[in-house]
Amino acid sequence: MKSKYVPNRIYLSEREIPKKWYNIAADLKGKMLPPLDPQTQQPISPDRLGAIFPQRLIEQEVSQERFIKIPEEILKVYLKWRPTPLVRARGLEELLETPAHIYFKNESVSPTGSHKSNTAIAQAYYNKLEGVKRLVTETGAGQWGSALSMACNYFELGCKVFMVRSSYDQKPYRRAMMQLWGAEVTASPSEETKAGKELFEQNPDSPGSLGMAISEAVEVAASDPETKYSLGSVLNHVLLHQTVIGEETLKQLEKVDEYPDTLIGCVGGGSNFGGFSFPFIREILEEKARAKGMRVIAVEPTACPTLTRGVYTYDYGDTAGLTPLLSMHTLGHAYVPAAIHAGGLRYHGVAPIVSVLVNSGMIHPVAYSQNEVFDAAVKFAKSEGIIPAPESSHAIRAAIDEALRAKSEGKKEVIVFNLSGHGHFDMSAYDDYMQGHLADSTVDEDELQKTLNQLRHQPVSE
Ligand SMILES: *Cc1c(COP(=O)(O)O)cnc(C)c1O
Repeated sequence: MKSKYVPNRIYLSEREIPKKWYNIAADLKGKMLPPLDPQTQQPISPDRLGAIFPQRLIEQEVSQERFIKIPEEILKVYLKWRPTPLVRARGLEELLETPAHIYFKNESVSPTGSHKSNTAIAQAYYNKLEGVKRLVTETGAGQWGSALSMACNYFELGCKVFMVRSSYDQKPYRRAMMQLWGAEVTASPSEETKAGKELFEQNPDSPGSLGMAISEAVEVAASDPETKYSLGSVLNHVLLHQTVIGEETLKQLEKVDEYPDTLIGCVGGGSNFGGFSFPFIREILEEKARAKGMRVIAVEPTACPTLTRGVYTYDYGDTAGLTPLLSMHTLGHAYVPAAIHAGGLRYHGVAPIVSVLVNSGMIHPVAYSQNEVFDAAVKFAKSEGIIPAPESSHAIRAAIDEALRAKSEGKKEVIVFNLSGHGHFDMSAYDDYMQGHLADSTVDEDELQKTLNQLRHQPVSE
């Protein structure tokens, strides 16, 4: 009998690129709670958001349209690297001797090395359309800052990036990359903003955090009419833009006649995870037969266990409390995660849509420590030849554990994970790991309770 030829890499042609983003919020009617105004604690009016975001993105943020057309100008830039390949991880399967089929969606092939470019291009485009002159943002690991710098460069916008200090020190080449595309990069906390100055005075040695850098960026945007703020994760419109990942993955799996038993993504603010999984979760919501029993796993670090140990309530998106209050799982906006190498996962909150889906039992969160994650990253690098980002390696760790479970149960399952980015700028982290210098920090329950207690004065959801 001739066996069917199954390719290692499953491509889509340029013509098959998705033409629409999927807006899962339209399918979660009645479950989403509105963002609140930080001053009045009442649902925020879209006008107030207009000070920091362009109109079209605010419309997308609250849209109830199920599918939103991707403008030609954005598709044109997406086509520089999209559609991205879906890869059968045969090397990893052989290493693990698992009967499971493991696939990964390779978002690391974008020019900046991660999925972040998918929304950066869209955000820069809509800002340009409305006459904005400059975008300001924060970056943790440097992936978001790089993506926005590239996007601003394409659409001829100025770009200012507050980079979390621990990353700024660990990754000088990420900084250089942003500067090459014309961005101005400042280590955060900085002395350039009121929020930054206060944080600096409290602790001059602060490693910084995404929450702190957001405070600085929002302050700059609010004080300059020609500058708007741009966020790389968490918000509905960001997850919306990332759904090109999952839409492509669905089509690619159809080409080889497969469907996932298990879908896995890492979660910082939830954008790569959401963009990858929502088109599949749509099929669960539609009660499609093939989606029955599919498990969707969200992976986070034990050092920043937002979904596994946080509480679901209203909290600020930043440390200083300048942003609207979002209804989400949070460790408290004052929480400063340990300076682990997966900088992109060091965020106290998570996307409200992801929180709603965790609450409804559709997403299962798990947490892993840094050394477990790097062990998986090295196995992947050795068997597949790609050095993964420390963030993405959280998904790899879970995929390996699922594949080993399938092996022990003798099940030929299909496991699909999102490789959100490569780790070429994270080699100092790999160096530390190889020399046995990586610390596994766990969160002290008393410390966590302290920042959670500060949430008490805020409105409570559910
Ligand atoms: C930013 C980043 C993440 C985390 O952000 P999400 O919004 O949760 O996707 C994960 N992986 C990589 C490679 C990143 O750059």
